[in-house]
Amino acid sequence: MDITELSISQLVKNIKSGEISVKEVMKSYIENINKKESKIKAFIHLDIDNALKKAEELDRMREKNGVLFGVPFAVKDNINVLNTETTAGSKILKGYISPYDATAVEKVKKENAIIIGKTNMDEFAMGSSTENSAFFPTHNPVNVEYVPGGSSGGSAAAVKSKEVLAALGSDTGGSVREPASFCGIVGLKPTYGLVSRYGLIAFSSSLDQIGPLARNVEDAAVLLNVIAGFDSRDETSVNIEKKDYTALLGKEIKGKKIGIIKEITDFDLQQEIKSALNKTVDTLNKLQAEVIEVSIPHLKYALPVYYIIAPSEASANLARFDGVRYGLIREGNNLKETYQLTRTEGFGEEVKRRILIGTFALSSGYYDAYYLKASKVRRIIANEFENAFKKVDALLLPTTATTAFKIGEKKSPLEMYATDIFTIPVNLAGLPAISIPSGNDKKGLPIGMQLIGKWFKEEELLQIAYSIENGG
Ligand code: GLN
Repeated sequence: MDITELSISQLVKNIKSGEISVKEVMKSYIENINKKESKIKAFIHLDIDNALKKAEELDRMREKNGVLFGVPFAVKDNINVLNTETTAGSKILKGYISPYDATAVEKVKKENAIIIGKTNMDEFAMGSSTENSAFFPTHNPVNVEYVPGGSSGGSAAAVKSKEVLAALGSDTGGSVREPASFCGIVGLKPTYGLVSRYGLIAFSSSLDQIGPLARNVEDAAVLLNVIAGFDSRDETSVNIEKKDYTALLGKEIKGKKIGIIKEITDFDLQQEIKSALNKTVDTLNKLQAEVIEVSIPHLKYALPVYYIIAPSEASANLARFDGVRYGLIREGNNLKETYQLTRTEGFGEEVKRRILIGTFALSSGYYDAYYLKASKVRRIIANEFENAFKKVDALLLPTTATTAFKIGEKKSPLEMYATDIFTIPVNLAGLPAISIPSGNDKKGLPIGMQLIGKWFKEEELLQIAYSIENGG
């Protein structure tokens, strides 16, 4: 048996029955890390000794429970893990040691997963390729000349290369789904408010959500069961009843209505992605789901709206990195100089660009013209989704318009921003969405299909995704 091929539930079952030890599991994964990490560079911080120690500890307490018992796990570096360096991919946080666990991390630990490291990311989650990391780019395990996507590119690459079984990422405009799509794995962005953001370094607070990256839909559902739930430490956490997100997996989707967004045709889709979309529609027909066309007329405004709202919120959130409180400190002769020296050295180019855009958009005299206007269009987009969901149970569209691009290929920020055209509208509306693998293009690069579900109806979204995953 190849241990690294097992799903979460299979792995835990085998550990529990005594078939394999946690140490054996960890050793198999470490073997992959030793073989691949120098080329992939998925991790900013890796603690193999500690992981082995933890594995031995779990082997001594096999009677203990946990749905992630012994699962080798990775966490994106903008999510706090107690006593571990948390940099969010930025020089300004180099050397910052987290004094606490994020709620999602606390929950994963409680289920006895083994966190082996913190994964690389675009600085402060701003980017779509992991090239904006202040440290180094991560490479796509499918072809190392290509980007793994971003900003959770390290988490996606670590899962794809089987350096870990599953990982956490964060998704503000697509950062879980787009790298999942580029690497050929599953990525889930939960409904805004379902997973606590406590301990996630804030980028754009009204858009950020933590989500799982996994090998298949079932693993993603198992992880959502672990991390979802009300948390009084997050003001935007929603108190809804606890659900089992695996409950509907395998149940037929006959009669479900799936919407195709008409406006998708306004965008330039790579030919193979068009074919993959058509193939998925065929699969849905085969499963006797009903595919119908819906309209989100304001879809094309999602990108400009996002690039007002996200930088505005980021400019406020990043004001706390001031050379006084965290990480890098460059003391000047006065406070202003301290800010200037610290931020000049600590922040990368993209982060500076966003702070400037955000500060400008929020400044008096411009607020109404930009932030307020963007908020209104955001509401219109959310309303259009709400209308669509009166007719359908889920929406189907590609995760991205193209497959992964080469490292260094995208030269301008605007080109990079355009990558997220199909993922960003989901965050603006606060909806849940999942990216699942849907074959490869001619170069062998993975294609991802995206399903968008109704607010807080992840169990149904996962059911449909599972049917497509297994019904093709
Ligand atoms: N790529 C988008 C951006 O740069 C989204 C990133 C994210 O979801 N964190 O803002």
